[in-house]
Amino acid sequence: MKAAFFDGLGQMQVMDYPDPKPQSGEAIVQVKATGICGSDLLLNNDKTAPDDIPAGHEVAGEIVDIGNDVDSAYIGKRVAVETIGHGRACEQCWYCRFGQYRQCMNLIPSEGGGFAQFIKRKASGCYEVAAKTTWGEAALVEPLAVSIHAMRRGDLRGGESVVILGAGNIGLTAVAAARKLGAGQIFVTARHKQQSDMALALGADVVVEPHGSQLRGFVENATEGRGADITIETVGGNRNDTLVQAVDVTRMQGRIVILGGFRKPLEFDWLTPLLKEQAFLFSSCYGILNGKHDYEIAIEMLSSQNNNLSSMITHIYSLSEIQKGFESAYDKSSGSIKVQIHQ
Ligand SMILES: [Zn+2]
Ligand SMILES: [Zn+2]
Repeated sequence: MKAAFFDGLGQMQVMDYPDPKPQSGEAIVQVKATGICGSDLLLNNDKTAPDDIPAGHEVAGEIVDIGNDVDSAYIGKRVAVETIGHGRACEQCWYCRFGQYRQCMNLIPSEGGGFAQFIKRKASGCYEVAAKTTWGEAALVEPLAVSIHAMRRGDLRGGESVVILGAGNIGLTAVAAARKLGAGQIFVTARHKQQSDMALALGADVVVEPHGSQLRGFVENATEGRGADITIETVGGNRNDTLVQAVDVTRMQGRIVILGGFRKPLEFDWLTPLLKEQAFLFSSCYGILNGKHDYEIAIEMLSSQNNNLSSMITHIYSLSEIQKGFESAYDKSSGSIKVQIHQ
């Protein structure tokens, strides 16, 4: 099959790669759509060596082959692939018994992600999407599930005020998730015009520039000066600005959920959040909470009436054009939000 690899120098190259073969419990998915994630972009920036397996974890496609012990009803299913956790989980260890597949102690090593014609994962980690869900929408299940997980980790309750720092893909899916899960007012910081417009379309009440005191002003006005009940940090990076801002705009005894990847040790004032008795929580990927996988909630959201999530997909390229796809995703002046590879 064809698959795309980062060449270690700055380019994505399409090359031949062995077809995956299904083992016990596994399914082969013919990939129809794969999203380019902010983490794919960051990883390529940090990488100096070429990929040995294709990346791509926002994957949707059709099951075309199965291991000999897998129910034949899986063949032909249109699925969103849980590539990182459930699709590689042992389903037997302590964490798997609670549905915390991302923390599985015996994860099966990946032989490749969705920047390829086919991908292999556990059949049970392939979640069927609704018949009316498009392939592009099905490839939004993964980033949406990441944001749904953050809201559930942060125990979002109906009517609570929510600040979302950052309006990249995860910030935007966080807006949609917060709205769907019953948030009150939603405040968002966004750097680019297309992100700000999209945040409003997905249900944000107020969108402001990341810097300055604007955010604090809006949040204080809306909460009798208290601050937000819950803040979701989606930026990460090498600076502590968004952490300081999170502490500042969250109320005393409020919750701060960190989704952003902080890539260096940071200096941070821990006394202020201690005195405010704030809770810091980290959220990574997805899993089962209260009997439901975040993928299931994302799939339900994407099939519900009047969700605007598909308008996040601004650019679509074929696998052979994947380098152009990465360039569009890097270059926010292209108007890009979510860039996908369709096959
Ligand atoms: Zn991602
Ligand atoms: Zn396990």
